[in-house]
Amino acid sequence: MKCSKCEQTAVFESKPTGSSLCKFHFVESVERRFKQEIRRQVHFNNGNTTIGVAISGGKDSSVLLYLLWKTMKKKKNVVLKAFTIDEGIEGYRSEGLKTAERLCNKLGISHEVITFSGSFNTEMDQVVRSGNLQGSPCAYCGPMRRDLMNRMSEEFNADYVALGINLDDYSQSIMMNVLRGDYEKMLRMAPHKNRIKGLVPRIIPLRKIYEKEVKLYAILEGIEHDMGWCPYAMEAQRNKVRSLLNSIEENSPGTKLAIEGFLEKLQKHDIKQEEITLTEKCLICGNPSNGPYCQSCIRNGKAKKNKL
Ligand code: SF4
Repeated sequence: MKCSKCEQTAVFESKPTGSSLCKFHFVESVERRFKQEIRRQVHFNNGNTTIGVAISGGKDSSVLLYLLWKTMKKKKNVVLKAFTIDEGIEGYRSEGLKTAERLCNKLGISHEVITFSGSFNTEMDQVVRSGNLQGSPCAYCGPMRRDLMNRMSEEFNADYVALGINLDDYSQSIMMNVLRGDYEKMLRMAPHKNRIKGLVPRIIPLRKIYEKEVKLYAILEGIEHDMGWCPYAMEAQRNKVRSLLNSIEENSPGTKLAIEGFLEKLQKHDIKQEEITLTEKCLICGNPSNGPYCQSCIRNGKAKKNKL
């Protein structure tokens, strides 16, 4: 099969566009869409713009960091600072951490680690072993991760925090909010233009790039990444939505892009994210919340100790 743009052999076939691309044009296509999203999502200051990058060592965040570095390396006024959240999941996070460290060293980007044990005095393995889970492990882990992500971004004095969320992940999250009927949470999804009630805006420049494109890009560009899976991921409702969307995409290529585009239009035309309520401040940590206590403090047990 030949590349649709030159005489070289194609390495990738894009069903939504009907084109086949050689290595050069595939890499170019991913980088073009990434840069387009950076222009849409980041408003550069006159002074320095600091971007905190959440990196797990997996393919998505490793590609994110590499692409940010490649795109920004000539911009003197952009600072990248990477961090990894260690949830305390044995046999999973430790490998990712080493990979993340090596990539940061190679690219010359500073890297910090923040742990659940140091911040919440507990670890995910402990939470799961306690047998008191109400819902999936991710329902506990997610809010605590978001809390630490915000703490790190504040510590870095970051203007943005970048997340490695590809199109597959993003369309799944949109559909999960639809299935839960959570319209406000859906509209609050990243990318954020401004701070929402004190939260550092999150950007997701991989949102229009399919997971298989991210994988292939990592291989073609020689970006080392960890391929381990979180042992608790299998329990998530996300898996059902993932299989559903994969089977629809198979028959109707471009469905995931259409879901992403649907939310993008809603966010652009209908509602200002800042106006969607996170109306209160958590009584314990002061983070924005929808009630007296934020989800992180409820899940990590601090709210219970305060007699919630
Ligand atoms: Fe945490 Fe769930 Fe992600 Fe595992 S899959 S790291 S439990 S949010």
